[in-house]
Amino acid sequence: MASSEYSTADTREDAILQVENLQTAFFTDKEVIRACDGVSFSIERGETVGIVGESGSGKSVTARSIMGLIKSPGRILGGSIRFDGEELTSKSEKQYREIRGGDIAMVFQDPLTSLNPVYTVGNQIKESLKLHQGLSGTEATKEAISLLEAVGIPDASRRVKEYPHEFSGGMRQRAVIAMALACDPELLICDEPTTALDVTIQAQILELLDDLQEERDLAIMFITHDMGVIAEIADRVNVMYAGEIVESAPVVELFENPRHPYTQGLLRSIPGSNPNADRLETIEGDVPTPNEPATYCRFAPRCPKAFDECDKVHPVPLAVDDDVDDHSAACLLYPENVSQKQAIDMHRDAATDSEEEL
Ligand code: SF4
Repeated sequence: MASSEYSTADTREDAILQVENLQTAFFTDKEVIRACDGVSFSIERGETVGIVGESGSGKSVTARSIMGLIKSPGRILGGSIRFDGEELTSKSEKQYREIRGGDIAMVFQDPLTSLNPVYTVGNQIKESLKLHQGLSGTEATKEAISLLEAVGIPDASRRVKEYPHEFSGGMRQRAVIAMALACDPELLICDEPTTALDVTIQAQILELLDDLQEERDLAIMFITHDMGVIAEIADRVNVMYAGEIVESAPVVELFENPRHPYTQGLLRSIPGSNPNADRLETIEGDVPTPNEPATYCRFAPRCPKAFDECDKVHPVPLAVDDDVDDHSAACLLYPENVSQKQAIDMHRDAATDSEEEL
């Protein structure tokens, strides 16, 4: 059985963002940390793609690589990031500055990192409008007020003159989203945008993103460690572990039929997922630092289903079954319609092919 039949190379033609075999590493005196180690996924217009995993899995480094924000001692070593057909990895810092906050905007976990405390919220939105839409004066003020209204800030014409410290946490995050929208982006990257907020405000921000996406046909990349949030917002989910995407599927399929043991563990650790259990289940151990080439399964030390070959063969994303074409897992237990020996050979062959491509 040829592994190419099960290859899950992401070739969605309508994708506005296509990331292929992205390799981003950080070089220290002692080691090379392969924070993104062969990451591939795509996002279509009007689609929300979730990237989920524990801290240290490489989610934020993936986002920063796309935004051109990897600084020394980090570097993109290989792979491709195409936005609207254009390769981004070869852009200069000057070209990237135009893309950042223009076609692609980012919302971070802590709104205070994006807001300058000494300028009014309105002035900061107007600065974006000037830079990216050429608006100034009354026209920019009007647009800033209408953006604050669009993100649900009441009494926007008064609040546009207020400073970030006069806004509550949830309102600040709405203001940051308004600033991002001021650039009229096609892709919005949200890095844990609701983690610092309480549950009610979190639900409001998720609903807001959903509404904005529908109105503007935005593509959204949503990073979180929270499977509950992913269930609310994502159309498609990529599960990351130690620098690699270990499972990828449409959201309903992933929640109903998780295949990778890591995803199964994440889902079991959602509070309330097993009402009969006395205690909340957790995945024992920590995410390892990916500081050597993956010649084995990085999840093996924590995997309840690990067997001998898991320490010797690097599993790569392959279709979980021959009749499921949009669900892949990087685990030697799949494809599940072939013998275990065949599955292991397929992963070994596919891993060798991708090493040769590098
Ligand atoms: S390859 Fe082995 S260790 Fe890795 S997830 Fe699959 S069963 Fe577990």
